[in-house]
Amino acid sequence: MLSFAFDDEQEQFRKELVAFAAKELAPHYRRRAAVAEFPWDAHRRLGDLGVLGIGIPAEYGGTGDPDPITLGMAVEALSYGDVNVGAGPIYVGLVAAQIAAHGSAEVCGEWLPRIVAGTAMVAIAVTEPAAGSDVSGLLTTARQVPGGYRISGEKIAISHAITAQAALVYAREPGSTGHQGISCFLVPLDADGVERRHMPGMGALPLGWGGLAFTDVFVPDTHLVGEPGRGFAGAMSHFDFSRPAIGLACLGAAQASIDETVEWSLQRQAFGRPIAAFQGVTFPIAEHATFLEAARWLCYRSLWTRDAGGAHTSYAAMCKWWPPQVAKDAIETAMVTFGNIGYSTESPLQQRYRDVCSYLIGDGTAGIQKRIIATSLFGRVAAS
Ligand SMILES: Cc1cc2nc3c(=O)[nH]c(=O)nc-3n(C[C@H](O)[C@H](O)[C@H](O)COP(=O)(O)OP(=O)(O)OC[C@H]3O[C@@H](n4cnc5c(N)ncnc54)[C@H](O)[C@@H]3O)c2cc1C
Repeated sequence: MLSFAFDDEQEQFRKELVAFAAKELAPHYRRRAAVAEFPWDAHRRLGDLGVLGIGIPAEYGGTGDPDPITLGMAVEALSYGDVNVGAGPIYVGLVAAQIAAHGSAEVCGEWLPRIVAGTAMVAIAVTEPAAGSDVSGLLTTARQVPGGYRISGEKIAISHAITAQAALVYAREPGSTGHQGISCFLVPLDADGVERRHMPGMGALPLGWGGLAFTDVFVPDTHLVGEPGRGFAGAMSHFDFSRPAIGLACLGAAQASIDETVEWSLQRQAFGRPIAAFQGVTFPIAEHATFLEAARWLCYRSLWTRDAGGAHTSYAAMCKWWPPQVAKDAIETAMVTFGNIGYSTESPLQQRYRDVCSYLIGDGTAGIQKRIIATSLFGRVAAS
């Protein structure tokens, strides 16, 4: 039988998170979103609720087996109230899961309990000034020295660069080229030789976007995450989680915007009747409701396939280009339907619009996702 329902346990957890998002997150969303300060209080609450341990081994305080559907569901429910706080669980599946799968006992023991509790954040640092979509062009080096590695190079556009305590840094063996020789390291961001720089963006300010410079930064051998030279291979499967999760974050924010717009349209009067009486108002909302519903099930389809152990890289890429786009478009229509109030900074709509726009680029643009999908359809010829 085909079922679109969460199981009883998931549904109960979802309701708990929906209530938390409505009561605790939504009322303070704009205040939190206006500053480049990570909302540790709210993030720790996610730890208390058990959200940040989903799929992390029990010995580190987590729930045990990977559970991408519940993790994605948590992202969606929380993002309805605050899309920036709602991004927290994305890092569980993208970063913490990577550490749990490939990190040394020392790194897991030091970092996972803190990530699960919501007292530490670990960024993921891939992008460089000359290498974004094409990660094979990254230049940061990791030189092997007695007892560890020395890392030198520059990363830019990194979420949590100014707020995280550590980062997973992708760096190559000196002299290697292309996809060869790239390893992943956990680098504490208070290590000697690390400099951080804030890059103010148009939204997602609490995520502390910025640059990281590494000058001969020493990390011990135990901080290598995964096999040497295979760091990126280890990361790729976790992007197949983060992409649908990002889609759901955007859709949660968009659904909140559409729900507010329905309520508003029933109250707001023009030409002697509620604006909901005009099909010019309701039909665009009906269209966006359709797109959001379709995009949402695409994301869950991707997470379900991941959970079932099936191939889902192409679905994940679909979730990263289309849902953020339909979410942005829905929020834009919501803004216009609210008239002047929609444009005001007193409204959460403009804030959601700016926050959701960050996901048009972060974690790979639509162009790159379509390249992945096209490659799965046409083969390597489509990857040039
Ligand atoms: C808000 C935000 C958060 C981010 N967070 C992180 C983070 O935490 N960690 C991290 O490592 N990075 C992060 N990034 C960086 C992000 O992953 C890169 O910006 C993105 O991958 C694009 O790389 P680029 O900016 O260098 O653009 P480029 O690679 O220079 O691309 C420029 C344009 O060319 C297009 N293009 C390039 N090649 C192709 C192709 N083959 N086919 C079709 N189109 C192509 C792209 O789609 C894009 O539109 C973040 C970015 C943003 C905006």
